[in-house]
Amino acid sequence: MNHDQARYGDDDRYEPLLSEKDDTSVDVGEAGSPLPDDLTRDDLSLPSLAEPEVARHYTRLSQMNWSVESGPYPLGSCTMKYNPSFAEDVAADPNGAVHPDRSAESLQGTLEVLYGLQDYLARIGGMDAVTLQPPAGAAGEFTGILVAKAYHEANGHDRSEVIVPSSAHGTNFASAAMAGYDVVELPSGDDGRVDLEALEAAVSDDTAALMLTNPNTVGLFERDIADIADIVHDAGGLLYYDGANLNALLGRARPGDMGFDVMHYNVHKTFATPHGGGGPGAGPVGVTEELAPFLPSPRVREDDGHYELFEPAETVGKVHGYQGNWLVLLKAYAYIARLGDEGLEDASAKAVLNANYLAEQIDCEIPYGPFHHEFAATAGDRDAADVAKAMLDHGVHPPTTKWPEFVPEAMLTEPTEAESLDSLEDLAAAFNAAFDADAAELESAPSKTTARRIDQADAARNPRLSWRSIDAEE
Ligand SMILES: *Cc1c(COP(=O)(O)O)cnc(C)c1O
Repeated sequence: MNHDQARYGDDDRYEPLLSEKDDTSVDVGEAGSPLPDDLTRDDLSLPSLAEPEVARHYTRLSQMNWSVESGPYPLGSCTMKYNPSFAEDVAADPNGAVHPDRSAESLQGTLEVLYGLQDYLARIGGMDAVTLQPPAGAAGEFTGILVAKAYHEANGHDRSEVIVPSSAHGTNFASAAMAGYDVVELPSGDDGRVDLEALEAAVSDDTAALMLTNPNTVGLFERDIADIADIVHDAGGLLYYDGANLNALLGRARPGDMGFDVMHYNVHKTFATPHGGGGPGAGPVGVTEELAPFLPSPRVREDDGHYELFEPAETVGKVHGYQGNWLVLLKAYAYIARLGDEGLEDASAKAVLNANYLAEQIDCEIPYGPFHHEFAATAGDRDAADVAKAMLDHGVHPPTTKWPEFVPEAMLTEPTEAESLDSLEDLAAAFNAAFDADAAELESAPSKTTARRIDQADAARNPRLSWRSIDAEE
């Protein structure tokens, strides 16, 4: 048995590490090294395997995982949509691989694209100015709240609280707290939306901002958004838009027009760049004119066809190196440019249509509606996690489960505009089969996956991401 097999169940498929397949390590030899002794070693722990074995190893590993290239991935709120390969081709062009320390003079093409993206995003969001620097949606939230804080401080406002609806994404609470604010939680109203009376009671002279996503986490449009904006603004606070659900509005309605002052964009949710998975991502932030002087540095501006970097007058500083993750931003630019106004409008129409079509096909209760690009079904008296595991046996990835908490045994589902009618029907069939499964089936699911039920908490808290960590443990 391989030394890691013990950690897996008997039925789990196991792919040995390359170092387990062959531990003849490469002998680097002795004499003749021109390097100083402290920079050399006696052996190098590289397995000496032939290329086909290595290629097959990685192909097998990729097949043990789920991806949006192998099937629909309807994770509500996370928006796992297909990443078109033309955008990858654009980013892989060797001309795009520029060193960020080059002079602005020699980077005119890069700066033109960055400037163009700032402009696209500002127009899409109805904002006046955009920074491309933050490397993820959550980093965008943190940046946006820092900018709001700098604005309040510059105007002599002493405010200590940020209001966050209880259904908001966990990162909203974390971003506000990291920026030094006390977080005031706002319970959802009976209809799943913001309760205006509760909001009136929560705002005060201490309110720095309200963070909101619209449509909200269960896909409902906050119809009272104009009143919400008035309540927050009358109290002297700012309105923050969490852009994770922008897919439902793309090309149709703009947060800026609804009264939002600051927002982030998740380019990996809306503009089809890959989810970072901890790797490079991007979470640009848009703001109104009043907040623009506080944006991170540098931004890009244009003067008579010439592009240059500049530091906003009262900048909060840098939140990432250089202009942000340039090649990720290039993919977002390519996607927006390719779709154009009509394509973006079509994407939001299909995102909403697909969610509503799927919901019609499944036999389970959806307590809140009418919804837009995502919906929260309830698994009722079943455990939503069991239903999700059973769906895996029907060849589809399950939705987000048990969140938001005010929907009992929630299955938060977002098919995205990228799925075809056939694939929506496969999804619906998997939903219905899992709902029909009896208790014994639910308990033993999944049986057709690489691994059965893993210890999720342990996997998250003690990730073992390379053979080195396994070697170190032993
Ligand atoms: C995904 C998400 C975020 C955080 O974005 P990341 O890019 O994953 O950091 C914030 N809010 C909502 C509602 C989200 O769904």
